[in-house]
Amino acid sequence: MLFKQLFDKESCTLTYLIADLTAKEAVFIDPVDTQLDIYLDILKAHDLTLKYSLETHVHADHVTASGMLRQKLGAKTAVSSLCGAISADIQIKDGDVFEFGQEEKIKVITTPGHTPGSISFLWRDKVFTGDSLLIDGCGRTDFQAGNVSQQYDSITQQLFTLEDETIVYPGHDYKGRWISNIIQERTTNSRLAGKSKEEFIEIMANLNLPKPKLIDMAVPANRYCGVDEVFAPQAAES
Ligand code: FE
Repeated sequence: MLFKQLFDKESCTLTYLIADLTAKEAVFIDPVDTQLDIYLDILKAHDLTLKYSLETHVHADHVTASGMLRQKLGAKTAVSSLCGAISADIQIKDGDVFEFGQEEKIKVITTPGHTPGSISFLWRDKVFTGDSLLIDGCGRTDFQAGNVSQQYDSITQQLFTLEDETIVYPGHDYKGRWISNIIQERTTNSRLAGKSKEEFIEIMANLNLPKPKLIDMAVPANRYCGVDEVFAPQAAES
């Protein structure tokens, strides 16, 4: 197997590549458009076919590379059916499983809250939590129809109930950290550990975060997997 955690400095986004080197099949989770050449180089170096480009949600802070990976490599793009990403090849639902390589399975766990369509992916002993659960934090819920109560339920009932040793791979980190695990977050996450829902709501209401720089451009673009193919002008019929 090949597993890579990649980082986009501009948006502090963590992207994941999982590949079966025997079957030569790969999957990306949350690729970033500006990193496309790096992704293509890795895939080429290992002679990999990209089967899926998966999104944990429609991002507000960067444009996805999914659409370009589809255009260049024929990968299938997949986003939650609740994200309004009409041009995605696959509208993901709770319990969906993505299979690739020799018997590799990536399981979908719906974790709404940061956005209504936020999901996490479970592969082997690793969970990719997008912006649902971050290291000592969690995704904000103050835009994109975020819901703070749902965020609490998703984290405490869906993610914190995974095996303690499950490794947490978040969608972002702004402090140079890379991984955590479920027991670490359940017992030390300063927004969630030992906090009631009311306390969590209070904490989230007082984050006072600035609006993401790219939100007005990134959210509409990401609904088209980062590439406006569907509504691109067609050549006039003659
Ligand atoms: Fe986000």
